[in-house]
Amino acid sequence: MAILLTGGAGYIGSHCYYELLQLNKELLVFDNLSTGFRDSLPESAIFIEGDVGDEEALDGVFKKYEIEAVIHFAGSLIVEESVSHPEKYYLNNVRNTLSLLNVCKSNDVNNIIFSSTASVYGSNPKQIMDETDPYSPENPYATSKMMVEYLLKDYSRAYGLNYVILRYFNVAGADPELRTGQKNKDATHLIKIGLEVATGKRDSISIFGTDYPTDDGTCIRDYIHITDLAAAHLKSLDYLLGNNNVKEAFNCGYGQGYSVRQVLATIEKVIGKKLNINEADRRPGDPVALIADSSKIKKMLNWKPKYNNIETIIKTAMDWERKL
Ligand code: UDP
Repeated sequence: MAILLTGGAGYIGSHCYYELLQLNKELLVFDNLSTGFRDSLPESAIFIEGDVGDEEALDGVFKKYEIEAVIHFAGSLIVEESVSHPEKYYLNNVRNTLSLLNVCKSNDVNNIIFSSTASVYGSNPKQIMDETDPYSPENPYATSKMMVEYLLKDYSRAYGLNYVILRYFNVAGADPELRTGQKNKDATHLIKIGLEVATGKRDSISIFGTDYPTDDGTCIRDYIHITDLAAAHLKSLDYLLGNNNVKEAFNCGYGQGYSVRQVLATIEKVIGKKLNINEADRRPGDPVALIADSSKIKKMLNWKPKYNNIETIIKTAMDWERKL
């Protein structure tokens, strides 16, 4: 039996690919390479280039292989772009997932893990979110992920789909063995950009907004190491395949928030030099603070993070950035 990874050549998908190798199951990667890279995966990977919106191509894959579960990573994920080009998000994230769910349904594949986001919670005054907190998306990216969460719930009720929703907080860092890492062409994420400045690939970094209602005026996020996130997928898959009637959402974060200034100060500490930092206006669509209450995944799936240290996250990301 095979596991299908849509978007498996991307940053998160490729780390999960390596983590799932230990299952000794057939792993299929389906990716349109819009933001992923074939060489983020080993030569031996079964790689199919295609778009999730192409139902015919996808159906061909389901007919050719005996798929028991899908991990759906493919999608668009840049908050600011979603504000300026919402149609891309409703198309890639919502419509294409609908296509995928229909292909799953017509091929009797009933198990799916979905890459969702902490930003479905939006700016909740509580700041530390648990899975029962209400949806309050503040940008089309978050809204598109929330809509897919509703799709999964409705397909579950109507057709018995089993699903695990993983709400990612801020994913960063790289595989400690450096088999893969983050290599997007036009990075928008804080740690990645900070390290591009550190390695001389960019001149400076801007802090987007210094007047937020936080101690130092900058936004707070819960940064999770990519390898711990990959382990959460392995645990989720095990749970999904070992139980009936699975309908769960889990937060993936550490429960510890860092402000933009704190992250940049940690980068400076790790690299041992000052970054060229300037202050800029707020970026549209950014919630003030997103911190995970991750007690549910720890309790239900026995998920034990190994890299929950912001310096370790930055160090592994730096090792990767130097290798690029
Ligand atoms: N950020 C920043 N400068 C940058 C990139 C990001 O100040 O060059 C801020 C951003 O406004 C947000 C936080 O860092 O408050 C995390 O943003 P990122 O894009 O890394 O992740 P997101 O939370 O949007 O998924």
